[in-house]
Parts: sequence; C-alpha cells; structure tokens
Amino acid sequence: MRKPFIAGNWKMNKTIAETRDLILKMSATLREIKTVEKVLCPPFMSLMSASALLEDSGIGLGAQNMHWEEKGAFTGEISPVMVKELCDYVILGHSERRAFFGETDEIVNRKLIAAQTFDLTPIVCVGETLEQYESKQTREVVSRQTSNGLRNISPEFAAHIVVAYEPVWAIGTGKASTGEAANVVIKDFIRPAIAGSYGEQTAQAIRVLYGGSVTGSNAAEFFAQPDIDGALVGGASLKVDDFVAIIRSAVK
Ligand code: PEP
Repeated sequence: MRKPFIAGNWKMNKTIAETRDLILKMSATLREIKTVEKVLCPPFMSLMSASALLEDSGIGLGAQNMHWEEKGAFTGEISPVMVKELCDYVILGHSERRAFFGETDEIVNRKLIAAQTFDLTPIVCVGETLEQYESKQTREVVSRQTSNGLRNISPEFAAHIVVAYEPVWAIGTGKASTGEAANVVIKDFIRPAIAGSYGEQTAQAIRVLYGGSVTGSNAAEFFAQPDIDGALVGGASLKVDDFVAIIRSAVK
C-alpha cells in the first residue's frame, strides 16, 4: 500500500508574513487528515518561519530546489545541509528549473545523490513539453528523464523517493491531463524505467504523483487511478479551500 502524498509548490509566491498567514489558515484542517502525507514547499526565505509553525503538526516542509554541494563558492545557492536544517523534503528537477535555469538530467541526478547523502526525501519531477507531446515523444522523454535522473542511488533510497509526472503543457495552464492518460504514462513509462534500474518491487513501492493544473474539482479523477499516488500542486496550493479539497480527495 502506497500512502497518498500531496505536496504544495508555492513557487516564487508569498512573503514571510503571507506564508505565516496562509499556514495559519490551512494547518488546523490539514493536521486532522492523517492518512495523507502532506508537504508544503514555500520559498526559501519563508522556510524558517514555516518550520516553526509546522512543528509537531504532521505537515512536512520542503524546499523547491537546492545545490548538490555541501558548501563553498556558489553565490546565491542553498546547500543540502542548509535545507536539512529546516526541511525533510526537496523538489528536484521541476520543469521551471529545467526550462529557465538550464537544469539537465545530470544536474537533477547530482542533486538526488545529495538528497540521499543528507537524508532528504526528494520529489523528482519529470514530464514532456507541449512540442514533445505533440510529436509523440512522451514515452522517450519521460523514460529518459526517469532513468537518467535516478541513476547511482542505493536501492533502499530509491524505494523512498517520490516522482512527480508533470506534463509541462499542463502546468499553470488550466489544461490538466486526464486521469486515464496520466495513469498510462506512469504505469507504462515511469514505473518500467524505475524497474529497469531498481527492479519491479522498487518500481511498485515508489509513490508517483501527477502534477499540472490539479484543483479541488478535478483531483478525484486523478486519485481514482491505480498508479497515481497523489499530486504536486502549484496554483491551487495557494488557495486554502482548493488545497484542502485536494487533500480530502486523496483520502482512500
Ligand atoms: C507545479 O508547479 O508543479 C504545478 C503542477 O503547477 P500548477 O498546479 O499550477 O499547474
């Protein structure tokens, strides 16, 4: 049994004061839902105050990115050791990092290895662009991102990572995939790519999420699918009612 997993990616939204406000509005309801693993990923600047507010709440805290080196001359970067001081989770390889900041599968893999070293649970994002989708390259792109991104980690760690299938054309567009189509990608491309490296048992143990314009209204359609274990939520994670509705939909 894979425990449902919902993460909210706030992206570059919310000041420290706004973070506090949003967490106070949603945390009481979220902490009551115990059968879903819940994670909030506010901007780096807000992690400190978020961590104090979420202490003993059963709601996890994640960073949206990190560098792979422990420390050193990397101006503007945040190391895994620093992330670990406040967080247990980290989003890696989000399509916005790949598109705007040149992250390759190799970079994502270095970060994943750092997550293993520093005991962080990574949420590794994979997904095809609109162009790749239209030219029927979904299988090739998603399989490659999964196998290359997940190289050289221990089988024990591999079983604990979380993968998010996020078709780029569905992110922030309001045009979500369908539950059935996303399930096919996860069942036929992503889990087999994991099985190729770490075996079928690990491929079946890993939680794989769907992400891309998930809302309180369409979440249930995704969670009804056998291979979709939850969601990585962007825009709707900033709206209390929507995010709570998504989490409620994930309760089995
Ligand atoms: C995301 O940023 O990972 C995402 C899925 O965004 P949205 O839910 O807004 O499409």
